[in-house]
Amino acid sequence: QPHSGPPDMSPEKLLTPVLSAHWDEDDSYTLAAYRRHDGYQGLRKALAMDPDDLIAYVKEAGLRGRGGAGFPTGMKWQFIPQGDGKPHYLVVNADESEPGTCKDIPLLFANPHSLIEGIVIACHAIRSSHAFIYLRGEVVPVLRRLHEAVREAREAGYLGKDALGPGKDLTLTVHAGAGAYICGEETALLDSLEGRRGQPRLRPPFPAVAGLYACPTVVNNVESIASVPALVNKGKDWFRSMGSEKSPGFTLYSLSGHVARPGQYEAPLGITLRQLLDMSGGMRPGHQLKFWTPGGSSTPLLTAEHLDVPLDYEGVGNAGSMLGTKALQCFDETTCVVRAVTRWTEFYAHESCGKCTPCREGTYWLVQLMRDIEAGKASGADLEKIADIADNINGKSFCALGDGAASPIFSSLQYFRDEYEAHLGGRGCPFDPARSTVWA
Ligand code: NAD
Ligand code: SF4
Repeated sequence: QPHSGPPDMSPEKLLTPVLSAHWDEDDSYTLAAYRRHDGYQGLRKALAMDPDDLIAYVKEAGLRGRGGAGFPTGMKWQFIPQGDGKPHYLVVNADESEPGTCKDIPLLFANPHSLIEGIVIACHAIRSSHAFIYLRGEVVPVLRRLHEAVREAREAGYLGKDALGPGKDLTLTVHAGAGAYICGEETALLDSLEGRRGQPRLRPPFPAVAGLYACPTVVNNVESIASVPALVNKGKDWFRSMGSEKSPGFTLYSLSGHVARPGQYEAPLGITLRQLLDMSGGMRPGHQLKFWTPGGSSTPLLTAEHLDVPLDYEGVGNAGSMLGTKALQCFDETTCVVRAVTRWTEFYAHESCGKCTPCREGTYWLVQLMRDIEAGKASGADLEKIADIADNINGKSFCALGDGAASPIFSSLQYFRDEYEAHLGGRGCPFDPARSTVWA
């Protein structure tokens, strides 16, 4: 039934394996295994629908983008102009690289046909005859597996000539990136795909208006597109029976860090970290949760006080953070928050593409100051300085990478200022005294 009221959190509803339902089968990645479990049945139904009706159906189901921002998928498809005479493209963003984020890669490895089926359905909806998968280049085994799955799908007639109906061909190109985090930003990804250095473009125009080769383009995350076949096959009411009203459906949560059983947990949106930890063995024995990220390091940190926050876009937003990629990195009381934030800041400084000054210069100076703080070489004024630099990056940078770099600085100062202060004035790291001499 369509959802109304708070999400059903009865034990049997806690895990909802759909994308991950058959990952434990040896041949889960093959076409034969995928077909054994209703594979390509959603496509059959989708191809029988008018493209506009299909878009309306996905919109009504309420599927939201799983790449981090949660933008409604059906609405994004609807932005593609019709009858414009231009080619339309679908580009799947498989350049997963946000620290802690590790859901798309296992999904592609274990269940690549869910993505391919979703791609064919989406191309029918937006009237596209060419789709691309932009894959993080380092994951060579996944690249090989994707190539093999595309070959199987083409031989079975799901791709290629007449794939979308008589006279409607569909080409799927798999492209491996070269390891730059910024190429996961959708417009930098498009530049990279066109053969240029990957740097963000000014938005608007959004890719839906002027994307790949300046043509209307839908850029969707792997999990978003892979979720479409089950949604179409089992129906929007089934989809809406999971999750919350504004954030319906199932999703992959990546649990990592100091937890007893890290891994992928597929559950409804709106479940809480406490529930996920309860069913996964909790924190490692003898330790307590100190802080965690709801969606990778670019989402503001939360603490043990937030264990009951519903993990959906609204719930995490109300707690002052963002759901992001649902990469739940959990840190226990042995972790120095200054160390963790320093490490993340080093990552953002390294990955800053250099296009805009607030991010290029700001992340560099944040690293210098964070290292000084960690080593005990900083004063109270330096805490004001990192807050000021983060403030000059946040909202003033060209793309979301800058905001992501500022986010752990703000939230760690908000919740753990005393821990920063404990490092100051020559004292160094209370968790690891050896570190205080590292930079001396
Ligand atoms: P965004 O909110 O600016 O855009 C989200 C999507 O909606 C984009 O595809 C954009 O084109 C589309 N959109 C938004 N407004 C639109 C409009 N008016 N018209 C047409 N289309 C519109 O977010 P973003 O900057 O693309 O991405 C930020 C998110 O990326 C963060 O939430 C972060 O969690 C996530 N992220 C993920 C990874 C990863 O590895 N998966 C890495 C870094 C960041
Ligand atoms: Fe490049 Fe950083 Fe500016 Fe984004 S915010 S354009 S990554 S310099």
